[in-house]
Amino acid sequence: MGIQLFVPTFRVDECLEEIRECLEKGWTGLGYKTVEIEEKWKEYTGLPHAHFLNSATVGLSLALKILKLEEGWQDDAEVITTPLTFVSTNHAILYEGLQPVFADVDQYLCLDPIDVEKKITSRTKAVLFVGIGGNTGQYNKIVELCRKYNLKLILDAAHMAGTRQNGVVPGAEADVVVYSFQAVKNLPTADSGMICFKEQRHDEICRKLTWLGINKDTYARSNDKGAYKWKYDVEYVGYKYHGNSIMAAIGLVQLKYLDQDNAYRRQLASWYDSAFDGHHDYIKPIAVAPGCESSRHLYVIEVNNRDNLLLALNECEIYPGVHYRDNTDYRMYAYAKGTCPNSHRLSERILSLPMHLRMTKKDVDYVAEKVIQYAGRG
Ligand SMILES: *Cc1c(COP(=O)(O)O)cnc(C)c1O
Repeated sequence: MGIQLFVPTFRVDECLEEIRECLEKGWTGLGYKTVEIEEKWKEYTGLPHAHFLNSATVGLSLALKILKLEEGWQDDAEVITTPLTFVSTNHAILYEGLQPVFADVDQYLCLDPIDVEKKITSRTKAVLFVGIGGNTGQYNKIVELCRKYNLKLILDAAHMAGTRQNGVVPGAEADVVVYSFQAVKNLPTADSGMICFKEQRHDEICRKLTWLGINKDTYARSNDKGAYKWKYDVEYVGYKYHGNSIMAAIGLVQLKYLDQDNAYRRQLASWYDSAFDGHHDYIKPIAVAPGCESSRHLYVIEVNNRDNLLLALNECEIYPGVHYRDNTDYRMYAYAKGTCPNSHRLSERILSLPMHLRMTKKDVDYVAEKVIQYAGRG
């Protein structure tokens, strides 16, 4: 089977026990475990609101939709974003009829505040920051910029479940934080996510929008006997975006082990780091920002011969990945081609090495040995 990039690990018996509770109770949908995971997530992150979703992609879309609605943004409103991300991030901007404006990345592969500031125009309304691989990069400087220019801040924390910065979960400063609990993320379920708004009124709108725009309060307030449950009001053309109790059941078990699992990921990363010590002239591990305790969703190196190295590693049954291809290389975003030279250059030189909980020190040593053997020196 070789050494894969990502292999999720589940505490199978515990997950089955949580799922069994749902099945026995006859409650697999919205409510019950979805409420429980929201409460646990608020406790874990310290963020004031949390709403459980069926993915992070819909979360990013809702984040922009609600800010656009509440702030009265027009369709020419610009959102500054990164070209080094999964396409979900940037598609979410387009879903809402807003304009993605790409800014370049720094040495952490995260948005570079200097370039972000250069890309601000009179139409800029928000910055969408992605904590790549769990790294916080220069997030604090982006927070300052957003304050200075009165911009909204959205944190795509799809890789950041369990990341801390100087001991706390980053995101309290952002208007909204979106996490992914997709199948291969650090808190894997099958598909789900969490959206955490700073403002209660945004959280309230969000809860209506994720269930077809239905306002449950109208019947909850006037009829506690339940006979008039069908007599709700519908305030918005909402969506079917909420999470369900089966996903929440798996997530609740995974959350118990998140810190322990991430600690092991950091151990794997430090084994890689030691192996590449003394080879930095041709194998450059992407650094974790000072003060960041990364979730270590990824371990990324920069090399001279990425494509050839990838093929050579595949020959040894090692299967790394690339996070990510410069999004302006995609037809959808080609209008911005050439606007982020650092991102473009890095996207051709970076490689994500296998990083998952089933790896041993022996596996890391084997991968590192092969990388050292095949990485181009010139
Ligand atoms: C995975 C991912 C998403 C989307 O998450 P889903 O839960 O699969 O919708 C968004 N942004 C980034 C950076 C991701 O890696």
